[in-house]
Amino acid sequence: MARSYVAEARRRGLGRRRERIAPILDRLAVEHADARIALRFRTDVELLVSVMLSAQTTDVTVNRVTARLFRKYRRPEDYLAVPREELERDIFETGFYRQKAKAIRGTMRLLLEEFDGRVPRGLDELLRLPGVARKTANVVAAELGAPQGIVVDTHVRRLSQRLGLTREDDPVKIERDLLRVVPGADWHRFPHLLIWHGRRVCDARRPRCEECVLADLCPSSRAGPS
Ligand code: SF4
Repeated sequence: MARSYVAEARRRGLGRRRERIAPILDRLAVEHADARIALRFRTDVELLVSVMLSAQTTDVTVNRVTARLFRKYRRPEDYLAVPREELERDIFETGFYRQKAKAIRGTMRLLLEEFDGRVPRGLDELLRLPGVARKTANVVAAELGAPQGIVVDTHVRRLSQRLGLTREDDPVKIERDLLRVVPGADWHRFPHLLIWHGRRVCDARRPRCEECVLADLCPSSRAGPS
């Protein structure tokens, strides 16, 4: 399906990806001026834990759990000072709590052993942390002010395909395509803009193309030519 949107952009004469990306970014930035990470955290460690907990659940659930969690666990040592079962109970509500507790404890151990208890900025270093895959590493690096890639979640994937920015399905390949067309200065805000546009307008099942500010730039628009 994604392949046809890239071809469709050419067929409709909408311009090349590199030409469309600037107006896409500009319009989304106006439309979603409040687009930012929805997870609540105060420190780098809290950011890392929040993102690790957010796998397979909602940001709302994570924020509810971490409001309690972060009062009890303030430093990496705190996650290792309790039995694993206790941490599992404390994060139970986020689902996959056994794997997440194991990953968080392994990550905290490595932070203490190799990074002085601090969260590293480099993608390669972040990827060494147990349970930290590329998406988590990209989110953390970007929020720490050192984006080295583009976060591809379900919204970014769907909108990148619909907008004809990629013909790929695999998140790693989608990211590679996006890195070629999105300017480096926008690697942080671009996924936030797509995520919020996906939540508010470009719904997975019922995209509201008639209300969409990108309708005349989007090869899968159902709103017809402007
Ligand atoms: S025009 Fe429609 S399909 Fe394209 S981005 Fe907007 S809502 Fe999504």
